[in-house]
Amino acid sequence: MSETISGTAQSPAGRGRRPGSGRLVGRVLRQRALVAWGAIVGVIVLAVTFAALLSPYDPNTGTLADSFAPPSWEHWLGADRNGRDVLTRLLYGGQVALLAAVEAVGIAMAVGVPAGLVIGYVGGWLDRILMRLVDGVMSVPFLVLAIAVIAAVGRGLPNAMAVVGLVYAMSVLRLVRGEVLAAREELYVDGLRVSGAGARRILFRHILANIAPPIIVQATLMFATAIIAEATLSYLGLGVTQPTASWGSMLAEAQATIRQNFFLAVPPGMAIFITVLGINQIGEGMRDLFSREITVGRLGLNVVRRAEPERAVSEPVPSALPERPVALEVRNLSVSFPQHGHGRVEVVRGVDLRLHRGELLCLVGESGSGKSVTAMSMLGLVAHPGLVTASSIRLADQEISGLDFAAMRAIRGNRIGVVFQDPLGSLNPTFTVGNQVCEAIREHRDVSRRQARALAIDLFDRVGIPNPAQRFHDYPFQFSGGMAQRVMIAMALSCDPEVLVADEPTTALDVTVQKQILRLLSDLRDERGLAILLITHDLGVVAEVADTVATMYAGQLVEYGPVAEVFAQPRHPYTQGLLDSVPRNEASNGPLASIRGVVPAPVDWPIGCHFADRCDFVEEPCRHSPVPLTGLGESGRAARCVRAGELRLHGISRDRLDTHAGVPSAAGSGTTP
Ligand code: ADP
Ligand code: MG
Repeated sequence: MSETISGTAQSPAGRGRRPGSGRLVGRVLRQRALVAWGAIVGVIVLAVTFAALLSPYDPNTGTLADSFAPPSWEHWLGADRNGRDVLTRLLYGGQVALLAAVEAVGIAMAVGVPAGLVIGYVGGWLDRILMRLVDGVMSVPFLVLAIAVIAAVGRGLPNAMAVVGLVYAMSVLRLVRGEVLAAREELYVDGLRVSGAGARRILFRHILANIAPPIIVQATLMFATAIIAEATLSYLGLGVTQPTASWGSMLAEAQATIRQNFFLAVPPGMAIFITVLGINQIGEGMRDLFSREITVGRLGLNVVRRAEPERAVSEPVPSALPERPVALEVRNLSVSFPQHGHGRVEVVRGVDLRLHRGELLCLVGESGSGKSVTAMSMLGLVAHPGLVTASSIRLADQEISGLDFAAMRAIRGNRIGVVFQDPLGSLNPTFTVGNQVCEAIREHRDVSRRQARALAIDLFDRVGIPNPAQRFHDYPFQFSGGMAQRVMIAMALSCDPEVLVADEPTTALDVTVQKQILRLLSDLRDERGLAILLITHDLGVVAEVADTVATMYAGQLVEYGPVAEVFAQPRHPYTQGLLDSVPRNEASNGPLASIRGVVPAPVDWPIGCHFADRCDFVEEPCRHSPVPLTGLGESGRAARCVRAGELRLHGISRDRLDTHAGVPSAAGSGTTP
């Protein structure tokens, strides 16, 4: 059963309304410079366009009596040698400038974008030959090229600007090609290819849409240089022919009569200056706007929305460690993703979690149960278009749901450290590990380079990296998986966080190294009072280090409690199933049990207990309505089972867990190991 979230929750500050157009307008308006310059350029464009309505004069005929007339009521900006009104010529000259720029940029886009798309996509020899050609063209100054071409095809502004457009097309081509090469590496393009999309659809529909922002910025900046190019060509007499007004030709005329009247150079000069500056500012503003969107989009960072729950919030689960202060508390956390044909589908539903100082809580469950999504959403690390809502996420005494991107960034790595499964993949291969840890330290702490280095070496020492001062200068590839994971832990600890989230930190490591890393984590918990949320599908790991354990199944927590009690006597059949499938000595204990069936996909979650179809103890009431996670009235235990009070489930003895082998994690294949 899918549950569709209707309408987006209102966050406290009124942010995060409907995604889409409204947000874009808001962001544009926040860029004051962009708005101001947009208004100025807009006025110029309007005035120039309606020159014939605004001015009573003809731009090309004047009365000799007005020759060199100073600014007056009749002639606001005076008149030139031939008695022509300067303001009128300025407005008509603006038409020439804008049309010329439209021509050049139009040609540049029409030629450069398709050529760049095709060359970047096809690659190979075509790419190599054409790019050398482009390099050749771009190495010649465009003015020299324009003069050469005009000599061949004849004068006139359209010819001249066509040459400018072709030269610009080269840089557009180069930009587009580079973006296509980068986009081709992205997974979504592979996905499209696998799904059988044709090259044309991939290029024009998908890649072009993704690389549009840099192209738009480039076109805007190009428009400004095209205005200068037109003025330059007309100034040199290669553009408009007399008596047509253009800002460039007006400058040339003003220069000829500079001794009689120096003021004539000012209006065209200012017109060029203000228009070009304005358009450049608009381009820069758009670059800022897009780049923010791009970084947010690429990293996939998504703010947790503060939501008043659509369903009743359950009573807080009883604390297993009531005597300790709470480090992190999550209430009613849900995460949904849009899924084709189903609207928004929840993959995590109503999770309540509490983590105390100095507590190591293990979150266990089969693959696909929502463990990673739960952890990442608390950190604001769920990718767009994922939507995270929570009634509350409290870090010690600070509410962190509803915080914006920048505020969350300050918290991540500062008060909450994160360690992922693949340590080598999380390190940048081109920098030494010391460099990366120092950078992490200096990002959050105001220390000198030397102090950061000393701190980093101390941390390396603490996490058990031998010869820390020397290894500081090594690159990630010189580290084994276990050592690289120690580096990641050092990095996570670099700012002395209160909470450490570790998502399957030992899954990629071999068993002996795994034990060492777990020992390190539990020592750090004891030493620093660190609260650790350790995600794992390995119950051997849980037995080894956990204080408390939370079992997750199909997007919900189904059991919570102190590890010894849960293992001795689970209160949810799913937990018992997990414990049963821990590998053991078959000769003495009989064949390995497994949980029948498979984890349902989020769209197929039943209305009642999510585990009902796989449960040996299922009864009619289990299927009727959602089952709440309820406290069991003993030592901080809770279970999401209608029959929790009556069932007598069996646990597992701790010595059996010493095999330290993993619980199976294949979501699609049941739990047969
Ligand atoms: P676990 O860590 O427990 O193995 P995950 O938290 O990674 O499981 O995934 C939980 C569910 O969320 C899965 O059904 C998965 O398909 C879904 N999911 C995770 N990330 C995305 C995403 N970016 N888009 C759509 N669904 C996702
Ligand atoms: Mg995971």
